[in-house]
Amino acid sequence: MDEILGRAAELAAEYRASLNDRPVARTVDRAALRAAFGDLPEKPTPPAQVLEELARAAEPGLVATAGPRFFGFVVGGSLPAATAADILATGWDQNAFNAVLSPAAAAAEEAAGGWLKELLGLPATASAGFVTGGQAANTVGLAAARHHVLAEAGWDVERDGLHGAPRVRVVASEERHATIDRALRLLGFGTRAVEPVRAKVDGAIDVEHLRAVVEAEAGPTIVCLQAGNVNTGACDDVGKARAAAKHAWLHVDGAFGLWAAANPRTAHLLDGVELADSWACDGHKWLNVPYDSGFVFCSRPEVHAQTIAYRAAYLTGAGEVSGMGDLTLESSRRARGFAVWAALRELGRDGVAELVDRCCRLARRFARTLEAGGAEIANDVMLNQVLVSFGDDTDAVVDRVQRDGTCWLGGTTWRGRRFLRISVSGWTTTEADVDRSAAAILEAAAQ
Ligand SMILES: *Cc1c(COP(=O)(O)O)cnc(C)c1O
Repeated sequence: MDEILGRAAELAAEYRASLNDRPVARTVDRAALRAAFGDLPEKPTPPAQVLEELARAAEPGLVATAGPRFFGFVVGGSLPAATAADILATGWDQNAFNAVLSPAAAAAEEAAGGWLKELLGLPATASAGFVTGGQAANTVGLAAARHHVLAEAGWDVERDGLHGAPRVRVVASEERHATIDRALRLLGFGTRAVEPVRAKVDGAIDVEHLRAVVEAEAGPTIVCLQAGNVNTGACDDVGKARAAAKHAWLHVDGAFGLWAAANPRTAHLLDGVELADSWACDGHKWLNVPYDSGFVFCSRPEVHAQTIAYRAAYLTGAGEVSGMGDLTLESSRRARGFAVWAALRELGRDGVAELVDRCCRLARRFARTLEAGGAEIANDVMLNQVLVSFGDDTDAVVDRVQRDGTCWLGGTTWRGRRFLRISVSGWTTTEADVDRSAAAILEAAAQ
C-alpha cells in the first residue's frame, strides 16, 4: 500500500503539473483507447503494474477539465486541499452512510454543511444532504416537495404512492435545466405535468406570468426556480416569486448560480433566496471540489427526513433527522464531505467570494475582448457565463477551437440561435489564459 499510494499521488501530481502545457482536449481514436484497456485477464496482476497500465491506457483520453483553459459545460478543477482530502477519503475508505460507520465523515459533513448554509445565505436551520450532484439534489428536493404538498392535502405519498393522489401542479420556467425534467420523470409526475412559465429576455423567470399561472388554479403546487441559467447566468427573483406563489413549495435549482450569494458583488442576484423551501447546489462546479459532489438543502429538515429516510426511521422517529443517511438517496456512500470541508477551509469566506468574483471578472474580460474582435455577445454577463456568436460561422468556430486545443468550449442553442458558450468556473484561470483563449477563438473565426 505504501508504495502504490505514493505512486498514485505522484502520477496525479505529474498530470496536474502538465495541465498548462497540454492541449485541453485531443481528437481521440475511441476504439484504440478502448483497446488499450484490454480484455479481462485470467490471472491476477500485481497492483503496482495495474496502476502503471491504467495511467498509460488512460493518458490519451484525459481531458484537461481541471486546467486553466477549459470553458465548457460549467466545470472547474478541484482545489489542492480538496483534491488531497479526496485522496485521503479514498485511502481511509470510510462509509458515510451514518455516524456509526464513520463518526469522522458525519462530523465533517456537519461542519461543512453549516458553512455552506452561511456562505449561500440559506437558513441555519435547514438540513444539508451531501449528494452526488445537481441532478441528485434536484431529485431529493423535489421529492421533499412532493411529500410536503401532498401531506398538506392529507395524502401520504410514501405509503400510498401517486395512484389516486390529489393532482400536484408543477410550475416551472421554460428555461429550467434538463435535470428538473428527469427528476419529475423519476418521481412519477411525468414531464407533461409541467406548466411552463415564460422567461424574460435574460432567461430569468417572468414573475408576473408565474403569478398568473399559479393563481389560475388552487391545489398542491410545486414551483421550480433557477439560480444561474446555464446559458446566460440569469437568476430567478426568488423573493418576488415567493410573493407570487405564497402557498407553493419553492425549489431552487442553483447548481452553480447559488454561489453568487457568497460574493458580496453578486449577492443581490439572490435576494430572497432564503425564502424558498428547498435548494440544489453543486460542489463540483464553482466550489472546485472533486466529482461527484452536490448538496440538497431543505428548510424543513423533518420533511427532508420523512421523504428520504428508511421507512423504519420514518415510523419511529416522527421524521427526526437521525443521520446523514436520512438525507441522501445513497445508503453506503463516499465520504465526500472531507473534500468539501477542505475546500472551504482552504479558501475561507474571503477566498470563496474572491473565486466567484474573479470568475465573473474574467467572464466579462472574455466578452469585452471577443466583442472588440468582432464577435456578438448575446447576454449581459452578470455571472460567469458568456454567449458568443459569429453568425452563421458559429458552429464552425466551435469546431475549430476544439480541434486547436488552446482552450475548450461548446456550442449551445439559445432562443433558437446557435452560440458558442463560455463558462469561467475554474480556480486556476488567469487573465493571461483568457487573453490567450480569446485570441485563439478570434483566430478560428478569422480562418
Ligand atoms: C449542472 C447543472 C445541473 C446538473 O448538475 P450535475 O451536478 O451535473 O448533476 C442542474 N442544474 C443546473 C442549472 C446546472 O447548471
